[in-house]
Amino acid sequence: MIDFRSDTVTKPDQAMRDAMANAPVGDDVYGDDPSVNALERWAAERHGFDAALFTASGTQANLLALMSHCERGDEYLCGQQAHNYKYEAGGAAVLGSIQPQPIENAPDGTLPFEKLAAAIKPNDFHFARTKLLSLENTIGGRVLPLSYLAEARMFCNKHQLSLHLDGARVYNAAVALDVDITAISCHFDSMTVCLSKGLGAPVGSLLLGSKAFIEKARRLRKMLGGGMRQAGILAVAGQKALEENVERLAEDHANAHYLANKINEIEGFSTHNYDVQTNIVYVDIADNIDRVRLNMRLMDNGFRVSLNGAPARFVTHKDVNRQGIDALINAMKKSL
Ligand SMILES: *Cc1c(COP(=O)(O)O)cnc(C)c1O
Repeated sequence: MIDFRSDTVTKPDQAMRDAMANAPVGDDVYGDDPSVNALERWAAERHGFDAALFTASGTQANLLALMSHCERGDEYLCGQQAHNYKYEAGGAAVLGSIQPQPIENAPDGTLPFEKLAAAIKPNDFHFARTKLLSLENTIGGRVLPLSYLAEARMFCNKHQLSLHLDGARVYNAAVALDVDITAISCHFDSMTVCLSKGLGAPVGSLLLGSKAFIEKARRLRKMLGGGMRQAGILAVAGQKALEENVERLAEDHANAHYLANKINEIEGFSTHNYDVQTNIVYVDIADNIDRVRLNMRLMDNGFRVSLNGAPARFVTHKDVNRQGIDALINAMKKSL
């Protein structure tokens, strides 16, 4: 099967599996896992933060961030399309009693500052207390401009808000901009990074922030059932992913462009309404095309795709190459 549904489908390669098999481990809830400790120390320094926490997932890392920045009855500003608003089962509200205040994302994925400013609540007991702005980069495969991040920092300083980045795919943004990760992370009070997407680790995310912030998040992680024991087996995979799989994200981006160009050759398929900036390709599919039948035929031919969305989405990653893309395009043409 060649799988274009997401970069979460990437599997650990042999070198990563070997590192996992040989990982020094201990009980991380006692603080005894040398591989987790090494990853957390290394990642904090690498991203320009005081401390880091290894988490079970990006969803968990975002929830810990929101609950560490905000108390019950506080509010966070975020995008209407934000993962930590739309796709995390309402966790901040359900488990944190934190009110989301979503703002319509501009076409480039940014949140306009006039709209954000208008949504900040006055200090009055009728309102929730606005505490945090949460951004996402990349968002829908688009890269937030560095100048926007600097403005967001100034905006938050002015309004006394904390600034969080859902950086599930922040390395895709850094590679697309050809900057070091710290050119992005330097603007934020906290940031998450998914190790299990394009970076190719099997499980896990990082939460980065100040020492006090991470201490609070560590307590909440335990509360949420995220205190893992010999988690070093996973942490070494995450560290290898960060050390070895960042630069190759550029191949995924080039392959996404390649895929977009090829898809545009097929009648009824168009990427022209969307900008391919990283590894995600959005595609409009004409109404007369039977998506269910196409999906079945592609499955029969060894391809997994998600055609249901409007637009449909194709994702490139380390386990698909140009030949795989060519094969997909041929199979699509034949199936139609
Ligand atoms: C995937 C993703 C997450 C959540 O990560 P999981 O590890 O799947 O829980 C959070 N934010 C964004 C932007 C993502 O793409």
